[in-house]
Amino acid sequence: MRVKELGRTGVQIPEVGIGTWNYHAGPRPLRRGLESGALFIDTAESYGTETVVGEAVRGIRDRVFIATKVSPENFRAADFRKSAEASLTRLGIDAVDLLQLHAPNPAIPIEETMGALAQLVEAGKVRFCGVSNFSVDQLRAAQQALGRHPIVSNQVRYSLIDRTIESGLLAYCLAQAIAVIAYSPLGREFPRIAECDPRGTLADLARATGKSPAQIAINWCLCHDGVFAIPKGNSEQHILENCAASDWRLTAEQVALLDAAIQYRRRSRLDAMVRQLMPNSLQKAALRAVKVLPAGLRRRIL
Ligand code: NAP
Repeated sequence: MRVKELGRTGVQIPEVGIGTWNYHAGPRPLRRGLESGALFIDTAESYGTETVVGEAVRGIRDRVFIATKVSPENFRAADFRKSAEASLTRLGIDAVDLLQLHAPNPAIPIEETMGALAQLVEAGKVRFCGVSNFSVDQLRAAQQALGRHPIVSNQVRYSLIDRTIESGLLAYCLAQAIAVIAYSPLGREFPRIAECDPRGTLADLARATGKSPAQIAINWCLCHDGVFAIPKGNSEQHILENCAASDWRLTAEQVALLDAAIQYRRRSRLDAMVRQLMPNSLQKAALRAVKVLPAGLRRRIL
């Protein structure tokens, strides 16, 4: 397993971590993944998987880099502290390696949340501070609010089929030494990548390299400087296959081939805004409604 430096911390962590959203296969497959070298695991208070992660790391906790997240509805200082403590209890650990704000919450001043996060660092309960789904502007504000503790990572969607962060966020993170932790590197539902690959380039490359299509999709993320990937698998087979997506690299020509062949999206500012401000159930309707507004009006509200 190759390692990369987490921001400018001097700490090297595996470039492939194990994602656990919607994970329900018990501790053993996770443990096997960790033992295969992916000693980095990601969870969140909202996933319901902190307990199983705690079980998977039992006895090897000191070797594993554990990341979890606080949900935006818990960003008031007192709630934030309570959430973090509850995560530590479920994980069965005294301190977490990376505590991330799961997504921005414009309704709560970032200074209040970051104040609570800084206190947790100073109390020895959090080793490093991270965020997730933050834009460049939100990262700047968060760093200013956090003061002397650096934000070391931003966990964001990045895959062969969603390259939104290439519009500026990826370059900003690289310049600021903020690690990009790519979530949904397999497109969230793996067949979606094949749907965006009309000529079957991924399958062709898999045949040519002897790697699996999933490994190629993950390795494509890893080919970008400062990028880690946290695929999720619900079986030992998928987890081990994904953890073996490191230790080799696609060539520049192979990356260029994928870049040219796979149809990807870059979400618009409108999309990002709606996703941040609206509950999931209303997002599709809101996006449809805004799209039928006259262009002039759309430009004014965006
Ligand atoms: P993903 O890892 O892109 O894709 C998971 C899907 O790919 C599952 O359907 C899985 O099937 C399948 N899969 C896994 N390995 C495979 C393989 N080797 N071959 C074929 N199919 C394979 O999706 P994700 O769960 O959305 O993202 C990964 C992690 O990122 C999450 O678990 C979570 O930790 C994190 N995340 C964070 C956020 C955030 O807001 N911060 C949002 C989403 C995700 P099986 O389940 O059947 O194995």
